[in-house]
Amino acid sequence: MGQNYFEQENHLSQKQVSSNEEAMYVNNSKKEEKATPQDLEQQRLKFTTILDATTEGLYELDLAGRCTFINRAALDFLGYREEECLGKEMHQLVHYNHPDGSPYPLDKCPFIKSLTSGKQIKLVEEVLWHKNGSPLPTLYSCSPIFENGQIVGGVVTISDLREPKKAQALIQETEARFRVIWQSASDAVALSDPEGTVIEANPAYYTLYGYPPEQVIGQNFSIIFPEEIREVARAQYDETFRGPKTVQAIESVIKRADGTERVVEASYDFITQNGIRTAMVSVVRDITERKQAQEALQKVLFELKQFDQLKDEFVSLVIHDLRTPLTAISGYAHLLKRNQPKVISDKGTSAVEKDDVEELANQLLAPKNSKSIEAILHQTQRMEELISRLLEFSRIQAGKLTLNYNRQGNLLNLVRTVVEDHKVTTEEHEIEFEVPGFVTEIVTSFDAARLEQVLNNLISNATKYSPRGSKITVGLDPQPDAAKILVWVKDQGYGISQEAQAHLFERYYREYTAETKGTQGLGLGLYISNEIIKEHGGRLWVESQSGEGSTFYFTLPF
Ligand code: ADP
Repeated sequence: MGQNYFEQENHLSQKQVSSNEEAMYVNNSKKEEKATPQDLEQQRLKFTTILDATTEGLYELDLAGRCTFINRAALDFLGYREEECLGKEMHQLVHYNHPDGSPYPLDKCPFIKSLTSGKQIKLVEEVLWHKNGSPLPTLYSCSPIFENGQIVGGVVTISDLREPKKAQALIQETEARFRVIWQSASDAVALSDPEGTVIEANPAYYTLYGYPPEQVIGQNFSIIFPEEIREVARAQYDETFRGPKTVQAIESVIKRADGTERVVEASYDFITQNGIRTAMVSVVRDITERKQAQEALQKVLFELKQFDQLKDEFVSLVIHDLRTPLTAISGYAHLLKRNQPKVISDKGTSAVEKDDVEELANQLLAPKNSKSIEAILHQTQRMEELISRLLEFSRIQAGKLTLNYNRQGNLLNLVRTVVEDHKVTTEEHEIEFEVPGFVTEIVTSFDAARLEQVLNNLISNATKYSPRGSKITVGLDPQPDAAKILVWVKDQGYGISQEAQAHLFERYYREYTAETKGTQGLGLGLYISNEIIKEHGGRLWVESQSGEGSTFYFTLPF
């Protein structure tokens, strides 16, 4: 093959090399330049002799995985002669299968991983194959070889794990590792035999149950339970032990030696030898504090919900009560406006052609007050809008948003009319309507009043949150193939941050920025619009970036 397995990855810098303590260094090229061929040959012989004398097997590979050197111990271990290995791809020769006989692809070989990562890789019980086809469990390690900061090959070392001493050492090392985990685990872990006699328990176990080891080890596990439930506990143990599968996270209450109770979560698994369950492993986690925190949270949530409900009811009551006086104020303000007398004074100020009594009565109706009347009318109209928005909101909260469908409505007309109305009343923005030329009508079913409300909200937001003189585009695009109609309102305004976009359709949400500072609103318009569009079976969303304008889209089913 001769392929360079490493050609794409061999870019490690000298800095990386020096930080890699595991890396092997050979061939300082400066030294090589000065050394004579005799020196080099002598050096090679010296290394070969040393490496041949070691009991650990070792071979060197080039970037193509071909053997460039192999020592005596490796040859003996693998059953090959030197000439059978040199120049050969070692993976194909001795590492071609997994222990179960399935093929071991070259790209999964740790040697390749070591070359690509530039790191040493150590594996316990990696199986190589003897020339005679028998498996060789080994302690396997491979490291890249660096030359002038570049990886030029790798070295593999192998130790025979069939030697009992080595295997023993390995077992001890593994055991020591597990012992640390066992001792320091914060979960209580115990091992018990099929009858329930505790064989071993970790320190966390004694801490959790409060019994000393001598009262636990060699005793039936059930003695740590109150007497009255020991029988049941034993029966359950029996059932679990003989049950078909492991048990995960069962919640229960335990009593400690000092009589206090704890809530725990227990999982059970089994140790099996030759297909027979020989012991049960119980892992018990104290979740008392977690439970208490959960319960406290649930209580707070429940109270919050109740409070929220109360608040909604209160809001809805207040709105109803506010409406009545407001209607009266608005009525009287209109009346005042209608009754304003004609001005006869050439100064156009306060003179009114009436007798004194009437004049006094008409002071209020004097033209100088007309501005105030206009202001009252304007403010009452604003208040009416706010109140109807709040009313709408409380209806949605109470789940009473119902649509009044017009099955044969012309959506094109509706959108066009809303846009035209805004063109008349909006002096500070240029409003455009975009619709494909071939579209003359869009007949579909919708609630006209509600959709008008959505469009009004989106267009007035577009004017509210964009600078004077900027353009607003309202667009409409029927997409019969996708069975939907797309409507959008695009502005050249302040835009909406990514963070705000995530909350935009939540009730009472407003983004506070330097630009929105002076604007008024309840943060309910988009929430209500979204509910209306959802109720129509459509979707409302926004695309925007701070400082780059916003486009609100909604779809309606066609
Ligand atoms: P309101 O405008 O009454 O505050 P809305 O629910 O209609 O309530 O809008 C919520 C918030 O979304 C606004 O306070 C504003 O921060 C932001 N917003 C809505 N439309 C736009 C827009 N076109 N451009 C920038 N921000 C917008």
